[in-house]
Amino acid sequence: MKEIEKLKKTILEEYPRLSENSKFCFKCHPGVSCFNDCCGDVNIFLTPYDIIRLRTNLGVTTEEVLSKYTISPFDQNLKYPVVMLKMEDNEKKSCPFVSEKGCGVYEDRPWACRMYPLGMASPKEADKDKEEEFFFLLKEDVCKGFNENRELTVSDWLEDQGINKYNEMGEYFKEFTLHDFFLKGGNLAPEKIEMFFMACYNLDTFRKFIFGSSFFKKIEVDDETKAKIKEDDVTLMKFGLDWLRFAIFGENTMKINVDVAASKEKELRANGKIKDPIEE
Ligand code: SF4
Ligand code: SF4
Repeated sequence: MKEIEKLKKTILEEYPRLSENSKFCFKCHPGVSCFNDCCGDVNIFLTPYDIIRLRTNLGVTTEEVLSKYTISPFDQNLKYPVVMLKMEDNEKKSCPFVSEKGCGVYEDRPWACRMYPLGMASPKEADKDKEEEFFFLLKEDVCKGFNENRELTVSDWLEDQGINKYNEMGEYFKEFTLHDFFLKGGNLAPEKIEMFFMACYNLDTFRKFIFGSSFFKKIEVDDETKAKIKEDDVTLMKFGLDWLRFAIFGENTMKINVDVAASKEKELRANGKIKDPIEE
């Protein structure tokens, strides 16, 4: 993780910054001598939307995606839990989805795989109000795609790779992870780390939790929203992020059931944690 932090710093300070109109030469196709060489021994972080797309492609649960194909490295420098693709235990440390024909989940490959050879940086992470996002080129020695005679703009590449949809979905997660709470060094308690992991990455377990517990007795949710989050992963993902904002940042993103709120207040008063002004 320290290496990744070092790379981030180098990118922010040294890499040429590209806009959507910037041009570069690149083409990746099965005829390049390096075909598939980049699909191994690589750090690919997965967003909640990446996991939704992978589970849909593979026809499995989010639990299966997480347990079979990912790792969640623990590092005390991390502000929140992350999930990465787990490379195979072979000489090339291959991605579990690569085959001779290329990517086995091509239609639903993760954001990071679509973006390459472009990267996107958020200087906000270093200084919230300082600068806007920018793109940069990640020129790996192994990649011969840069020698191909095709010029395109950053915007062409985003369109070609279907990245805009991923960016739109990723925006919810990015806004959450760039919250002041994290930028100002807030730490998550162990139970909040579990909540974060479940609501962001393990949506099937999150769904079971909210429909199988007293969740809806405590939090008011209308029937239409309940029906949507029961069926639709993207709606559930957005709902989960709202719930985390409520539970972690104390934001007003969920409505507490009035009876539960009254009984909680009664309990706090009985324990002397709230006093009536007249008693003070
Ligand atoms: S998911 Fe597909 S594109 Fe990404 S590293 Fe694996 S095989 Fe390559
Ligand atoms: S190394 Fe570059 S050109 Fe080669 S397969 Fe990977 S992205 Fe394509």
